[in-house]
Amino acid sequence: MKYFVGIDIGSTAIKVALVDENEELIGHRISASGSMFYKYAKQSLSELLIELKIDEKDVVYTVATGYGRKLFKEADENISEITANAIGAVAAAKGECDIKTIINIGGQDSKAISLDSEGSVVNFAMNDRCAAGTGKFLDVVAMNLELEVSELGDYHFKSEGAPLAINSTCAVFAESEIIGLLGNDNSVEDIVAGVHYSIAKRIIKLVKRVGIKDSIYFDGGPALNAGLVYAIENELSKEIFIPKYPQITTAYGAAILANESYGYEN
Ligand code: ADP
Repeated sequence: MKYFVGIDIGSTAIKVALVDENEELIGHRISASGSMFYKYAKQSLSELLIELKIDEKDVVYTVATGYGRKLFKEADENISEITANAIGAVAAAKGECDIKTIINIGGQDSKAISLDSEGSVVNFAMNDRCAAGTGKFLDVVAMNLELEVSELGDYHFKSEGAPLAINSTCAVFAESEIIGLLGNDNSVEDIVAGVHYSIAKRIIKLVKRVGIKDSIYFDGGPALNAGLVYAIENELSKEIFIPKYPQITTAYGAAILANESYGYEN
C-alpha cells in the first residue's frame, strides 16, 4: 500500500495527515509549532508513522502547506493554505454538506474563502495583521481567566446574563478591558460569551468581503470551541457545518493533493 502525507505547518500548531490511495484519512497528529518548525514537523511525522506502524518508504509523496511550508525541505511539493484548505474542506464535508463558504480561524490569522459549484476557490479575504479574531486572542483570554482554551466553550454555555460587550478592536486593549470587567465583578462565563460574540462579529465582517453563500463551513482549531460556533451561528442566523476534525482539514487537503500529484507523475 502507498501512502500520502500532508503537513500543515501553522503559526501555532503543526498538523500531519496521512491518506491511502483511496484518499481515506488513515491517521493524523497535532503538535505545537514551537520555535523550531522544521524539527517539530519531522518529529511529528515520524511519531505518526510509528503510531500507525507504517514504514517511511511507503510514504511516496508529501505536500507541505501553511505558514512554515517552505521550511519542510523533504516535501515533494508545497502549496498555499488557501488551496489546501478548500480541497480538505470539500472532502471533509462530502456527502453531508455542499459548501460554498469556508471560515478558517487559525492561531494568528483568520480567513474567509468563497467556492464555486465545483469547489474551486473564487475569492478569499484574510486578516493576518491583527490578533483580535484569531486563536491567539482566545489563548490570551483563557490565560487571563486562568482557564484552558479547550474550556472556553463550556463556560460560554454557563453564561446567564447577556454576553458582555467587548468594545476594543485591538487584542492588546481588549486584554485590559477584560481585566477591567473581571475587576468589576462580572462573571467569567459572561466575559467568555462576550469575547466569543466579539470574535463572531469580526469574522462575519471578513466573510461579508467574499459574500455569504450557503452552505457555510468552519474549521481551524477555534472551531473546536462550541461556544464560538454558537455565537457565529447566532450572529449569522444560519447553521454552520463543523467537520469531524476541524483542526486538520488543511493538512488533509494537502495529503489529497499529494495523492493526485503522485498520480500525475507516475
Ligand atoms: P494555525 O494553523 O495557525 O497554527 P490552528 O488552526 O492550529 O492554527 O488553531 C490554533 C488555535 O486553535 C489555538 O490558538 C487555540 O486558540 C485553538 N484551539 C486549539 N485546540 C483547541 C481546543 N481543544 N478547543 C478550543 N480551541 C482550541
